Amino acid sequence: MKKAILLPRKYIQGRGVIGEVGQYAATLGKTAVIVWGEHAKAAAGAQVLASLEAAGVKGIESGFGGESTHAEAERIAQVTRDATADVVLGIGGGKVIDTAKAAAIYADAAQIIIPTVASNDAPTSACTVWYDEAGAMIGFDLWSANPDYILVDTDIIAQAPIRTFISGIGDAFATWFEADVSRVAHRMTCSGGIPTMTAIAMARLCYETIREYGLQAIADVRVKTATAAVEKVVEATTLLSGIGWESGGLATAHAIGNGLPSIPETHAYTHGEKVSFGLMTQLAIDDSIDPDLRQDTAAFLAEAGLPVTFAEIGIDGLGEDRLRAFAAQVAGEGSFVHNHPFEVTAADVYDALLSADAYGKQIKTELVS
Ligand SMILES: [Zn+2]
Repeated sequence: MKKAILLPRKYIQGRGVIGEVGQYAATLGKTAVIVWGEHAKAAAGAQVLASLEAAGVKGIESGFGGESTHAEAERIAQVTRDATADVVLGIGGGKVIDTAKAAAIYADAAQIIIPTVASNDAPTSACTVWYDEAGAMIGFDLWSANPDYILVDTDIIAQAPIRTFISGIGDAFATWFEADVSRVAHRMTCSGGIPTMTAIAMARLCYETIREYGLQAIADVRVKTATAAVEKVVEATTLLSGIGWESGGLATAHAIGNGLPSIPETHAYTHGEKVSFGLMTQLAIDDSIDPDLRQDTAAFLAEAGLPVTFAEIGIDGLGEDRLRAFAAQVAGEGSFVHNHPFEVTAADVYDALLSADAYGKQIKTELVS
């Protein structure tokens, strides 16, 4: 069976590395289109513009409409073509990054990605998740290339709201559990092959790093410090998880996490928070999981402040009919739940959702006592 792995060209992480953006952009060309929102510009704008200027790269700001839509990516691609720019620079959260990647592909330009939050594992991937104008997820595209350069400035990441950092941990903590499903079942991943040993090892290191340093890193980011624990966890949530999911594969945790946005009551919750409850559900559906590992994982998520119950993702009042309809949607054709090496039905998903919620409540009670 064919194996494959998708990798970015270069990943750079550390305090103040955003100041090096000009030197990397200069290796790609003379003109860069900059995609950023107001927050990212306020956090990093001066440093980015100064660095580009010092390297002799012309920067053109495209603005950003706020959603990762096809229309917005095409608009930025047109700005890129009109300027005959060589590179698109995406600076901000997941939606800015995903839109910048698409615009660069459309305009046949190179990509530099600078995440200003560690809330998800979009920065290293070759994929764009699409939303409609109202903010509902409508699908994704997988591109032919990963970003050329990814600069992760931990000084900036540590200044971002703590909830973004914890959400990144929720997204990344599921990575190894999901990749291991694809490894066992020999499933195709976004790479176009089954998982390599490398992707699985990266996913496992992601899990181990977050399990060991995650709670310390959360404490450190609460007081806005970029410590060694924060550096390790950012590498795990951005680089290891990014490659781990894309070339390692997904399973129930993301089937639930990507499905929950269809329930309006969950709109206040982040992707990583939804994946956290998705992982709780995966641990309930997979009988090969060691009970001690299930217990340890649920306790870690709860201690990290991530959702482990219905109430914590806004679906405690959903009722049986809507919950069964959601379970049927999650168990639909093409769902990641079918990556498990056993059959998963709508009834299985429904029961696992209830079991996850009950287990989460039990774990939270134990933590308090
Ligand atoms: Zn995710």
